[in-house]
Amino acid sequence: MFEKVLIANRGEIALRVLRSCKELGIRTVAVYSEADRDLMHVRLADESVCIGPNPSPQSYLNIPAIISAMEITDAVAVHPGYGFLAENADFAEQVQKSGFTFIGPSADVIRLMGDKVSAIEAMKKAGVPTVPGSNGALPEDREYCLKVASEIGYPVIIKAAAGGGGRGMRVVHTESALLNSIHVTKSEAKAAFGDDTVYMEKFLQNPRHVEVQVMSDGQGSAIHLGDRDCSLQRRHQKVLEEAPAPFIDPAARQDVLDACVKACIEIDYRGAGTFEFLYEDGRFYFIEMNTRIQVEHPVTELVTGVDLIREQIAVCSGEKLRLKQEDIKIRGHAFECRINAEDPTNFMPCPGTVTNFHPPGGAGVRVDSHLYSGYKVPPYYDSMIAKVITHGEDRKTALAKMRVAMDELIVDGIKTNTPLQQELVRDAAFMKGGVNIHYLEKKLAT
Ligand code: ADP
Repeated sequence: MFEKVLIANRGEIALRVLRSCKELGIRTVAVYSEADRDLMHVRLADESVCIGPNPSPQSYLNIPAIISAMEITDAVAVHPGYGFLAENADFAEQVQKSGFTFIGPSADVIRLMGDKVSAIEAMKKAGVPTVPGSNGALPEDREYCLKVASEIGYPVIIKAAAGGGGRGMRVVHTESALLNSIHVTKSEAKAAFGDDTVYMEKFLQNPRHVEVQVMSDGQGSAIHLGDRDCSLQRRHQKVLEEAPAPFIDPAARQDVLDACVKACIEIDYRGAGTFEFLYEDGRFYFIEMNTRIQVEHPVTELVTGVDLIREQIAVCSGEKLRLKQEDIKIRGHAFECRINAEDPTNFMPCPGTVTNFHPPGGAGVRVDSHLYSGYKVPPYYDSMIAKVITHGEDRKTALAKMRVAMDELIVDGIKTNTPLQQELVRDAAFMKGGVNIHYLEKKLAT
């Protein structure tokens, strides 16, 4: 096991990683920007290093500064959390070249899965179901593009191979708009990602977002830890997640879970990962893989009893996966509400000083947050300030706990999206379960 780990992140996930490191007896190094001196995990870490000014390109995305911090403190490994450098293959490579361990898959695997065209190809090879589409990058040949689209059937979606964060996508409804849409998406992709490769998929009309959590040791063993439903989204940002996904066809589920495990073994995947799917009419369609721990990992932890970060650190330190597939039992149901420092009506970020913080509690309630009374939420970073997670013996019980928890949560001094979450956990369709990815935006528009 590692002696000392540097945590290259901030906020709740830095604290979450710190906790697992401490439990494993690993010494910790926190890195922080000037605005983040007062972060809770910086206080609790064994050592801390300021890596630069507030804008993230100069601090949390500053690769040389982070590698220097590892050298100065003799950290042997780096945990990237999510966001920032977590899926940056160049960072993983430089960490490795400097003689340290990146807690995640190899740079090559990050690159393979970071390019959506190569990721889809690898998934098809492993038997993971994908969206009907161009089966690779679209060529210049106009006739070919028109033919592929008419075979798939409109509407289609043109997507940038290097796209991410919901950017670099365009839906096309008619043949007359196709060629121009490909042209525009290509130029946008070139400008945004430096790569104009695009591909085409059938645009699914009313899918749900269902994803599969995996853990793999890169030494021939991999397991899945069930699925999650993250269909409640606004502008491609997840708002409220649950595990397991409700009302999934059991045979389709088993097939997809098995295929994900097989894919991990085929690509020598190491660490925690998530296969994201669209789910429609009883079928799964792979859209992308996230090669890191995700924000919503706690719902899986609560229904499986597995500490995903602990296992992730263990396999990345070179240990073999100690869990077997038969050890993974899904118990009950879990929900996660993301709490953001934002105006609940217009979603504008709302940084400032938290004058009073009272987290909810009780059996089956978990709060992952770096907040404390007096903490000042800086304006420079993501607005998520807390995750409230509940676990119950079934979906109804877990959701009832979340209603109580949302009413108990107090964050004074700044605006948060708590009122929206209070409404969502009482929404009739959501309570029933299985709403699609457009549900929240449609509800907000009325
Ligand atoms: P990103 O990496 O930018 O998040 P994804 O490929 O994961 O891109 O797609 C983001 C979102 O776009 C999906 O969650 C879904 O809402 C929508 N989307 C992507 N592909 C399709 C598709 N083929 N049909 C319908 N919606 C899609």
